[in-house]
Amino acid sequence: MGYPEIRVDRNKIETNTRTTVARCHQQGIQVAGVTKLFGGNPEIAAAYVAGGVDLLADSRIDNLKRLSGFSLPKMLLRIPMISEAEAVVQTADMVLISEPETATALSTQAMAQDKLIQLILMVDVGDLREGLYETKEIQEAASIMDGLPGIQLAGIGTNLTCYGGVRPSRENLTQLVNIKATLEKLLKRHLPVLSGGNGGTLSLLEAGEIPGEINQLRLGSSLAMGIGLNDEPIPGLHQDAFLLLAEIVELRRKPSIPKGVIGLDAFGNRPVFEDRGNRMRAICALGRQDVHPNEICPLQEGIQILGASSDHLILDVEDCPGFLQVGSRLAFLPTYGGCLSLMTSPYVKKIIMM
Ligand SMILES: *Cc1c(COP(=O)(O)O)cnc(C)c1O
Repeated sequence: MGYPEIRVDRNKIETNTRTTVARCHQQGIQVAGVTKLFGGNPEIAAAYVAGGVDLLADSRIDNLKRLSGFSLPKMLLRIPMISEAEAVVQTADMVLISEPETATALSTQAMAQDKLIQLILMVDVGDLREGLYETKEIQEAASIMDGLPGIQLAGIGTNLTCYGGVRPSRENLTQLVNIKATLEKLLKRHLPVLSGGNGGTLSLLEAGEIPGEINQLRLGSSLAMGIGLNDEPIPGLHQDAFLLLAEIVELRRKPSIPKGVIGLDAFGNRPVFEDRGNRMRAICALGRQDVHPNEICPLQEGIQILGASSDHLILDVEDCPGFLQVGSRLAFLPTYGGCLSLMTSPYVKKIIMM
């Protein structure tokens, strides 16, 4: 036992997954359950599997290795490094890719390991993260990849909302559909997979705005945290499967303005303060080594986060109606980014509730 602690409610994740997978399957869309939010933890991934995902996906090979106990196909989400080609071929069945050089390295490894790796060629329809942009580049890359032994070009995919914040739309997804049709003509064969993006694309699902040809989505935040486009809650899903608990190590009334000449804080910023008189403050044993203070929200009313250094979270608890004492534990809901840090910080205990 020990704090800080993150409690993961596996039942809520399983329910979110079952609901979302049903919505997707109804429209002929398979679901790759993305596990990077929780570092590929197999106990949590089990909730995805129980909820019916078709594949397991992660951006890191190390995380995919942790999932080797599941028989579902494994997908590597981040376009691979050439230097990790050997491990990619050992671990993944399907790989998102954009560079022909990398495909060549995977082909060499696949031949050496006597394996067949499926590739999804990433197309950038405007978000400006990974993927090929010009139709000519896409056609050239597809032709090269199609000719390589040990790998199979299984289809194309795109990613949106991540860097440029570009929203998925019928227009940009239709562009993807058209590119696939062009490639099928060029290669004179059917490409079975059209991977239409991440959880942001779910926003088009209910309205029936996803083109029928899209048959795969890669979903993480929606299954695990019940959030979609712009991190907005998705109706019918749980948003509180991840709960952070931190312990109070000091509880004192103090002025709200520091005394002395104010210079820079521990992170090189010049802090600003509002004089609210003497206020009851709590310090929790939690800091930026665990999570950035902007990425968590106190669950109880009347608690305000004032700031955090590496190891101390400072709270104004003057207006908190609940009884607090040194040793009390406070609960916080993390954002997506907060969850990512908490689940990857070695200092945070992970408690998985069955
Ligand atoms: C992380 C990631 C996803 C999943 O994104 P969510 O917003 O969690 O659904 C999908 N595709 C790629 C390429 C990713 O890196």
